Amino acid sequence: MKPLLVNNALKRLKSLKQHYQKHIRDNFEHKAKDCLTCDVQGICCTDAHFVNVHITRLEAEAIKKTLEKLPSAKQTEIYGRNQQTIEKYDLTAEGDTFSKKYSCPLFEKGIGCLVHKEAKPIPCITHACYESKENMPSDELQVRQEKNVERLNSRTYGNAWNWLPLPIWLEKLKK
Ligand code: SF4
Ligand code: SF4
Repeated sequence: MKPLLVNNALKRLKSLKQHYQKHIRDNFEHKAKDCLTCDVQGICCTDAHFVNVHITRLEAEAIKKTLEKLPSAKQTEIYGRNQQTIEKYDLTAEGDTFSKKYSCPLFEKGIGCLVHKEAKPIPCITHACYESKENMPSDELQVRQEKNVERLNSRTYGNAWNWLPLPIWLEKLKK
């Protein structure tokens, strides 16, 4: 597998996600409930019985770079919220990490997802509220995107990456 420099990998990751976002928008989103008129807006990101979004090291790097564009006080607030999330929901890098759920620290009241345009995780791009299962994107579609993300990680970091809860990767890359 041909190695990639982090910056090149980040460019590829961004393009991959933009294409996937467009595909979901063009082919599925019009069949889903409109988030703008949702009376529980954001619950899909903050419901700690539901959210267990996992990301990879390269995606965490992309999120970190997106957050770096915010004012430093806002960054401090977000990383503080991230740390509280890890403690509150007892998130770890070991064991069955998918069994633990949490309220996502990247959801900002009045704004929504802070990384929506630049670095949204694959399951978040896929997710919307559909009335019928036939209207939903297939699992295979999402798995294909995740495999592409995995390949980029392997080409960039070798074996030094894995899928972890979003707050854990953000905390690991904080310093
Ligand atoms: S995805 Fe569903 S729950 Fe979340 S804001 Fe949109 S309609 Fe509401
Ligand atoms: S990353 Fe964004 S879309 Fe995904 S759960 Fe967090 S706030 Fe919601």
